Amino acid sequence: MTGKVYIVGAGPGDPDLLTVKALKVLREADVILYDELIGDEIRELLRSLKAELVDVGKRAGKHKMKQNEINELMVKLAREGKIVVRLKGGDPFVFGRGGEEAEYLAKHGIPFEIVPGITSAIAVPAYAGIPITHREFDPAVVFITGREWKERLNWKALAELNATIVVLMGVSNLEKIVKKLLENGKNPKTPVAIIERGCTLRQRVVISNLENVVDVARREGVKAPAVIVIGDVVRLREKLAKFLQNLGNFDHAEGN
Ligand code: SAH
Repeated sequence: MTGKVYIVGAGPGDPDLLTVKALKVLREADVILYDELIGDEIRELLRSLKAELVDVGKRAGKHKMKQNEINELMVKLAREGKIVVRLKGGDPFVFGRGGEEAEYLAKHGIPFEIVPGITSAIAVPAYAGIPITHREFDPAVVFITGREWKERLNWKALAELNATIVVLMGVSNLEKIVKKLLENGKNPKTPVAIIERGCTLRQRVVISNLENVVDVARREGVKAPAVIVIGDVVRLREKLAKFLQNLGNFDHAEGN
């Protein structure tokens, strides 16, 4: 009998942000295929489960499994009758290729379920004291990828939108993103927060503005994974951070 695949969001890194359903299916799983992005603490938690663990994520110097290899492995395991969990960082359908995996399973007649996760696009700013919306500020939020597959983003519309802009996968193309926004008229004084390894004890928050963010990021040696928030809501962090205790007294943890 064919097994089943669960495409599961692991949330942004803090194991307490796994959903009840995610934990339930992880406990039931025979095999878990996980990404690097799930973070160290969740990786640790997986080791306490009965499932066989397969690391399909990137690792420097090690072979990274290609998307089609992951797809084929899911189908193979399900056809062996296994309960398979495909565990992905954040939410599987937010820039996570979960859609492509679901398409592949449907095409091959494999039963599957989607278990949404808490996306880093919302939770990482939250843990850093930045509500991505606030009545006093922009009336919209736009999530963008810093690594477009096909270049289709309307930068002019984005720059003019009065929206909080949340960039995922933005570190390597930061310079280009900032240039496009400034060229299209976004206020150079718009505050920017770069949050590295959010929702983990290694979180670091780097605050700047559109005009100087490229220099600041270079000076600080900012690295992926990071969520970049561009918008006036970033100012709220100053008010909130002192009493915000999501990561304990994280002002110390992040070293700034
Ligand atoms: N599906 C994921 C996003 C995958 S794209 C989600 O919903 O969160 C990968 C990008 O997510 C990274 O480049 C980074 O921008 C962001 N990201 C995911 N987890 C993160 C974390 N703990 N801290 C900072 N950025 C994170």
